[in-house]
Amino acid sequence: MDIHNCTMCPRKCGADRTSDKLGVCGIDAHVHISDVCVHKGEEPVLGGDKGVINVFFSSCNLRCVYCQNYQISQQKPTKKEITSCQQAATRIARFLCNGEGINTVGFVSPTHQVFQMKTIIDLLRKRGYNPTIIYNTNAYDDPETLRELEGYVDIYLPDYKYSDPELAVRLSSAPDYPDKALAAIKEMYYQKGSRLVLNDEGIAESGLIIRHLVLPNHVENSINALKNIAYDISPNIHISLMSQYYPEYKALEMPDLNRNITADEYEKVCDAAADLGLVKGWQQQLNSSTNYRPDFDKGGNPFEG
Ligand code: SF4
Repeated sequence: MDIHNCTMCPRKCGADRTSDKLGVCGIDAHVHISDVCVHKGEEPVLGGDKGVINVFFSSCNLRCVYCQNYQISQQKPTKKEITSCQQAATRIARFLCNGEGINTVGFVSPTHQVFQMKTIIDLLRKRGYNPTIIYNTNAYDDPETLRELEGYVDIYLPDYKYSDPELAVRLSSAPDYPDKALAAIKEMYYQKGSRLVLNDEGIAESGLIIRHLVLPNHVENSINALKNIAYDISPNIHISLMSQYYPEYKALEMPDLNRNITADEYEKVCDAAADLGLVKGWQQQLNSSTNYRPDFDKGGNPFEG
């Protein structure tokens, strides 16, 4: 990465990340982490009953209007950030050796801080820790940057949000998202294939899982996103179809986004997945929107009420 001319994500801002003029992600060359906490995720194979040690990077290169983590992705964090890789490795190591047997670390929204993430993983390895590493991304990643993650990432967990470029513009200011994200996921598939490797406890150790969040009033976007995956990559990939959308942040002011999804919308998307042969993976209960509401402004674990 050239920190004076950043092109590490598809925004390709060319920002000098040592200067005052930062790129769309708004992050300089240092690490910025909003939180490190244990979270039992949406897919049971990720961490199992013990959960995943999630490392939430501050800010984001995509900045969706409905982001459920908007407090840390698009606002100034109220909690003190972690701003050194050593400190981050120490926080993660504390969870790894606390006797609960958690051995999976998820890096959340790492795209704009990939090299800081690699440094943290190196530091963990130097201290004798070798947990399963999840790269939990919006998929607005550059394939060339992803190639540098071979040997670092065990499980790729990308979203594939939009097939519709107009929606990608309106909700994330990223007209090229459908193509760029698909190219990034192809690189992940090239590295991992469609096989999800589980250990004896049923916990994932390697592979690729694509998440798709169904948005209200945009069933066609969802169905075409699934078609892109099935036709352009493979129908054998594990898909996590998420119903947990709830209106948040700027979406509260947007008529098409200001409600949860309906049973009918979710069923149509699930049926389309089955018709396309995308039968590996997970679906959610429709009331999942009440289960996954993080609050990063309060003290303690943002996922615990
Ligand atoms: S990582 Fe940030 S600065 Fe670099 S290209 Fe992407 S948005 Fe721009």
